[in-house]
Amino acid sequence: MSEVNFEFGSLILHGDSAAGQANFDADLNPDVRNATTNADLTIYLRVFLQRHDPPTGTTTYPDSDGNQVPIRAWTDLEWTRFTGRYQRETTQFWNGKFWLRTPDTFHRLDWPSTSPTHRCNVYCRFEMSTVATADGAHAIIPVVRVNGRHTFRSNALLYSHLDIEAEQYPQSRSRFFTHLHEVGHLLGLAHPGVAANTPGCTAGDEMACYAADPDSVLGLGSTLRDDHVQPWQKAASLLTGTREADWTIRRSREYPRRI
Ligand SMILES: [Zn+2]
Repeated sequence: MSEVNFEFGSLILHGDSAAGQANFDADLNPDVRNATTNADLTIYLRVFLQRHDPPTGTTTYPDSDGNQVPIRAWTDLEWTRFTGRYQRETTQFWNGKFWLRTPDTFHRLDWPSTSPTHRCNVYCRFEMSTVATADGAHAIIPVVRVNGRHTFRSNALLYSHLDIEAEQYPQSRSRFFTHLHEVGHLLGLAHPGVAANTPGCTAGDEMACYAADPDSVLGLGSTLRDDHVQPWQKAASLLTGTREADWTIRRSREYPRRI
């Protein structure tokens, strides 16, 4: 049995997912570090996917735009496949893509603890769990099974069975996957036009919010951008008592440096 190191404690953020605020747990594990291995900063998201089967006499469900879309009951096999892929694919997409370079002024990740020779950085990990009850879940998300060929407009807190499938928007050079995009929102990330202050976007035009960077996973594609490291910067800052901007992003493994 290895001991859990509580040196940096655990972070529990209780933002409002519906308002696009970060709502997740995180911990910084320094135990894995050595002269070539960084500390792990893991963000944990627990999502309760709520299987929605239409009650007797009901055949539609209102989508995010308020349109009544035909739905039917899930089969057990469809449901198992959906939740399994959701968990796997969102983890695969958001886990292990970023590193944060430890600031020169921060010594608590130096290794070894006595007479340190190296300053370790931070590896940004992500773990999605799909949980069976609403208790302790960061998000409760009804998921409907659309009946036939209909469009169902989803959002961060409402899905359909189509949301794990690829879509191709003419504006984007990469394919779009709703589940990868919506998990970005659960992490607290906004559409590209919000950060860029694109005029149409600030006026409430959603397409203008995507158009600021259509290839981005928070736009209409599946490309990660540097500013998508922000949830981990926020966690690092809160867990270590430093500023978010002190932690600079690396897109490839940044080895511990000699000190
Ligand atoms: Zn969105």
